[in-house]
Amino acid sequence: MSLVAVRAPKSRPAAPANGSVDDKEQSAAEPAAPILATLSPSRASNFKQCPRLFRYRAIDRIPEVPSAAQARGTTAHLALERLFGLPADQRTAERLFDLFREAWTGLRTEPDYSQLFDSVEDERAWGIESLGVIANYLTLEDPASFSPVGNELDMSEDLGAVTVRGILDRLDERPDGRLVITDYKTGSAPPERYALPAFFALKVYALLVRRRYGRTPAELRLLYLGNSTVYSLPVDDRVLDGIERQLLALARTIKRAMERNHFPPRPSVLCKWCSFQGICPGFTSPPTNGG
Ligand code: SF4
Repeated sequence: MSLVAVRAPKSRPAAPANGSVDDKEQSAAEPAAPILATLSPSRASNFKQCPRLFRYRAIDRIPEVPSAAQARGTTAHLALERLFGLPADQRTAERLFDLFREAWTGLRTEPDYSQLFDSVEDERAWGIESLGVIANYLTLEDPASFSPVGNELDMSEDLGAVTVRGILDRLDERPDGRLVITDYKTGSAPPERYALPAFFALKVYALLVRRRYGRTPAELRLLYLGNSTVYSLPVDDRVLDGIERQLLALARTIKRAMERNHFPPRPSVLCKWCSFQGICPGFTSPPTNGG
């Protein structure tokens, strides 16, 4: 299957310069549910990446303090969801920036975020950077030119061995009737050769869409707002049949892991961003420069 990367044109709407963002972020809490009773695409991805990470999140449910980057992601998702709730002619850059500020105003006093920044200056710098990321979104597509079928869709389907549930960022229908799944990432895109694993969760969502609506999505899109990059992947029934088999096999593997309480660490470059470095026996600090 071909992976298509599209880089946005250089120009973009200017972000407000004052950075008067009333920040706040991430509350896209995964549906917390008994493992194997319910499995989210994110948790399935966690297990594939590192079984120990899955255990910390899905079984031990160790709280993770959101980072500034995660705060940006949650705030941006809220702003974009609300943008598409407006009539098309109101989906302007200015309105999107306002929605980001409003979303952060609502989030910034929540316990998860109230201690996120050491100073007003830090928060303001984060706000300026965040508005730049939001401006990048507008270089990738014109939100006034289409209306999604749905935003932040709560998808839950019983696959027999397991119920799969998650929140789908956006589902679009093209003028030719093709369904397209879009996922927002506020970070930067990885090099194209490393991008394919990021589509795993979207393939699962495509499977859920097929089961719910009886229609097979034609395309999956990852919008990386950090560096204005779109990765796109075509899918069809053959791909989704394969992902269903893979998901059911994964559910069986997780069930066995639970029965044996066997969740070995699987160290990788992704450990760098893991919240559990301090307790994970598999984490090894990278060598320091000059050491
Ligand atoms: S530090 Fe690495 S090995 Fe340990 S749980 Fe996190 S991702 Fe897995």
